[in-house]
Amino acid sequence: MKDVYKPVYLEEKLAEIRESGRLDYRSKSLPTWCPGCGYFSIVEGVTLALTRLGLVSDETVVVSGIGCASRFPFFVDTYGFHTLHGRALPVATGIKVANEDLTVVVVGGDGDAFAIGGAHIPHAARRNVDITYILFDNGIYGLTKGQTSPTSELGFKTGTSPYENHDAPLNPLMMLLSYGASWVGQGYSGWPHHLADMIELAIAHRGFSYLHVLSPCVTFDKTTRTYHNLNMSVRHLPDGHDAADLMSALALARETGAPALGLYFREERRTLGEGLDDICKRAQGD
Ligand code: SF4
Ligand code: MG
Repeated sequence: MKDVYKPVYLEEKLAEIRESGRLDYRSKSLPTWCPGCGYFSIVEGVTLALTRLGLVSDETVVVSGIGCASRFPFFVDTYGFHTLHGRALPVATGIKVANEDLTVVVVGGDGDAFAIGGAHIPHAARRNVDITYILFDNGIYGLTKGQTSPTSELGFKTGTSPYENHDAPLNPLMMLLSYGASWVGQGYSGWPHHLADMIELAIAHRGFSYLHVLSPCVTFDKTTRTYHNLNMSVRHLPDGHDAADLMSALALARETGAPALGLYFREERRTLGEGLDDICKRAQGD
């Protein structure tokens, strides 16, 4: 079967949306990703979610690290910060602490997040920083032309691993659930409507929300995480899954084979900002 997804991010559509006068978060820069890259769906999903949530462009910040995914801030009409490799989360935490009124969305790839920046994730999660982390997982380093990443599957061959990948991949969903993220979900670039819904829910959550997005790199992965393979394997989370049940979420995250899409876990608890407010009040003797 041929891959069926075609990016809808076309000049004509952009002009049509601008002319219609509806709130729009696309910038004047069109994405420079390879045609067919899954990231087009994510930029569509983020701009749609921001529109639906009625957020104001100059009260929203998109923060990225380094990699193909990290070009993202150029393509949305919000404030943006293209930071250092793996360091998007500490910068985003600083932005949110400095101004709690801002909506902060962090974007990045699997290498940026789980290799170079891996040590920042547990702390953002356990502190429950009120930001959204959208992780674009294509299981490869795309910008540097196809090296294996921490989420590459066993047996994956790339230009720099011709004898196959022998390193077991990380399980990001299990990691984030274990780290204490207060919202954990999974989407797929090939299901753009579902993805936009998940992004909207993630941004609307008060606390640290982690959205894992399965997204093909059409240029450097022709065999593993392709649209064809993902279309044939992804499914919805089972009916009746209780997103308040952490153990059930962990059990689902541990399953291999057919990635389940949807909201794994959600809880309400004090955010970092609320904790800091409390410290300030006590220090001032209120
Ligand atoms: Fe997308 Fe891969 Fe191209 Fe990067 S190299 S823009 S991840 S298709
Ligand atoms: Mg990647």
